[in-house]
Amino acid sequence: MDLRLPWHREQWRQVQQRRSAGHLPHALLLVGPPGLGKGWFARRLARALLCEAPTAEGESCGQCRSCRLFQAGSHPDYSSVRPLEEGAVIKVDQVRELCAFLGYTARYGGYKIALLEPADRLNGNAANSLLKTLEEPWGACLLLLVTAWPARLPATVRSRCQRLSFGIPSPTLAVPWLAERTKEGPDPQTLLDWAGGAPLAALAYAGEEHWRRRRELAESYEQVSIARADPILAAESWMKEGLTENLRWLIGWHTDLIRLKMNPEPPRLNNADLGDMLQRWADRYPSRVLFERLDAAIQLHTLCTTTQANAQLLLEAFLAGGADPC
Ligand SMILES: [Zn+2]
Repeated sequence: MDLRLPWHREQWRQVQQRRSAGHLPHALLLVGPPGLGKGWFARRLARALLCEAPTAEGESCGQCRSCRLFQAGSHPDYSSVRPLEEGAVIKVDQVRELCAFLGYTARYGGYKIALLEPADRLNGNAANSLLKTLEEPWGACLLLLVTAWPARLPATVRSRCQRLSFGIPSPTLAVPWLAERTKEGPDPQTLLDWAGGAPLAALAYAGEEHWRRRRELAESYEQVSIARADPILAAESWMKEGLTENLRWLIGWHTDLIRLKMNPEPPRLNNADLGDMLQRWADRYPSRVLFERLDAAIQLHTLCTTTQANAQLLLEAFLAGGADPC
């Protein structure tokens, strides 16, 4: 699998520079928002450091014994730890085992590498247990800690790692990458907008059923607004499967409606794939109404996500309010 991502060039350069200067630390903390492929970077680096014939750019060759074992998930000098279940913590026993692994001599005489992901899931005891290894690392070993929330790690752990930061990539890098992987799917820029600019999060979005659902909700909303559907039934449908997400979409549509109203050819829309439908809405209502509806959508989102208010009733009122806007 090709683990190279176009927006990792700078981080790769930094690490290679440290490597060739002989300054690769014993622990690297890979930090940045979720969905940027920090874990990919960590595995790419591990594979390259273990490779027996790396390229001039420091990449793994993909052919040697080490690369093949890594690919098969059975390299004896590489180990990775993650929570045993989704949302669980990384336990002290898991970390002890990992530290013991790092303590053995490398089977192939090179690096010993361990990956901890997501490192913010270390519980207190597990973090303490890791400290000893961080303070007195053995020989050529490298610990890779990956996290989107470094502040959740104890300062004692953070301060013993060298930090490598990842930021949201420029769309000029992310859009083509995404476009290649979502050929039949939704517009890559739209996906990226919804994922806050994080390409892997956007890719996960593309394959999901809720993307189709988003269009259905938009269509049902339009039907209610022209009094062709019942707001109570529509509200019931909105309540199903991720109300918070559905309300974020709603706000996004209304933001685009304002854009379309202000400029018939806006430079860009968050929901370019729904452009025709949104244009119909924008033509139907005066600006004042569109601004009021955006305010109401934001208020609805706030009430439904931060209070115990009856979301079904609020939704019904909101949808019914849109049926006769003028
Ligand atoms: Zn190799």
